Amino acid sequence: MTDAIDPIDQPTPRRKPKDPVTTIDGRPMKPSTLMMGYGYDPVLSEGSLKAPIFLTSTFAFENAAAGKRHFEGITGKRAGGAEGLVYSRFNAPNQEILEDRLAIWDGAEEALSFSSGMTAIAILMLAACKAGDVIVHSGPLYAASEGFVAKIMAKFGVTYVDFPAGATPEQLDAVMQQAKAQAEAQGGEVPLIYLESPGNPTNALVDIEAVRDARDAHFDADRCPIAIDNTFLGPLWQRPLEHGADLVVYSLTKYVGGHSDLVAGSVSGKKRFIDAIRALRNTMGGIADPNTAWMLLRSLETVELRMERAGKNAEQVCAFLKSHPKVEGLGYLGMIEDARQQDIYDRHCEGAGSTFSVFIKGGESECFRFLDALKVAKLAVSLGGTETLASHPASMTHLSVPDERKAALGITDNLVRISIGIEDPDDLIADFRQALEAV
Ligand code: PLP
Repeated sequence: MTDAIDPIDQPTPRRKPKDPVTTIDGRPMKPSTLMMGYGYDPVLSEGSLKAPIFLTSTFAFENAAAGKRHFEGITGKRAGGAEGLVYSRFNAPNQEILEDRLAIWDGAEEALSFSSGMTAIAILMLAACKAGDVIVHSGPLYAASEGFVAKIMAKFGVTYVDFPAGATPEQLDAVMQQAKAQAEAQGGEVPLIYLESPGNPTNALVDIEAVRDARDAHFDADRCPIAIDNTFLGPLWQRPLEHGADLVVYSLTKYVGGHSDLVAGSVSGKKRFIDAIRALRNTMGGIADPNTAWMLLRSLETVELRMERAGKNAEQVCAFLKSHPKVEGLGYLGMIEDARQQDIYDRHCEGAGSTFSVFIKGGESECFRFLDALKVAKLAVSLGGTETLASHPASMTHLSVPDERKAALGITDNLVRISIGIEDPDDLIADFRQALEAV
């Protein structure tokens, strides 16, 4: 097929250095080093140390043959993908650099950027499913993800089977059997297993390895990828591709963006699954914009520093909260009380993160009094920013979840979700102490 294509005299100069340096002392460089320059060659942009923001909707071809060849790559007519840039709905330099660097953190073959975490999740699900299919998913999920499966995918004839985050291998086996029977009855397949671990807001962990084993026992792994929302622990503290997942999803709005000043998302993983998602993104749009991609490149330079500091702060804050008389309990991964959850944590996680739930003695009014008294922590939804945030999921992020489902998932009226930032830990502890006194 390639023989029939006109040769291109001068391939489009690309942002990448010809021979990128990715090893030192005979070993691969660490992600935090690669974040300073990987995938970008200053020589191609007037020596600008940082990549400029490319504000353009379209890209000039060197000649018509190059245009044809690039389109063949974009549309999949020729294997190997795009060789040159075509149009900013498909891709552009800032987003390509971002995608290369995101893939490094997860050890993924490829990554795609999106205008929000929910755009990433929606396009992933739409790309995977057709009418009659069944999605298997863990619970709890972020409320909008759960709503997207239950309400939006349902409009296209896609149903679901869900299971509690900590499900055992035996339970997972039964779930896969149920999903298979449901798909057969609907004339479809099970084309996607979708996990969120830790789940928002309870921090319940999913055994990714057990899900992979159950998937392999019942379905063809090439036709049924396991995708996981790694927003709470990634990219530092959980590497799901090493435990059996095929795709990793992020709300980059959280720890990766890290400054509560942008909204974006990503999917990274195996190329064969990424290609289908990219094809739908090319058609629909939904790629991150160049300015947001540039800000994320800045953020990736400090993601390890920020997450490490936030994680240490959370450890100290939780040690204080644990023994406070007005606190009933904590949903913090550094203090797990359940043996099954601890076993999953030990196998999958390298850190406890900085987002957790605190159960205040009482109910909604006690939580509201606590939230209204905070002076350092801000009362806002979201997580993973430099500043500490606190919110009340039952009446805010998870308000749309039916009461009986909230009860089943442990999203109670006395649960406050806290995302610890990088402030001074003593100031944070002092703030929580005085706010609890107001309860
Ligand atoms: N996944 C999780 C775990 C989240 O907490 C959120 C948002 O809070 C999302 C996905 C959606 O991300 P975004 O707000 O970037 O669309």
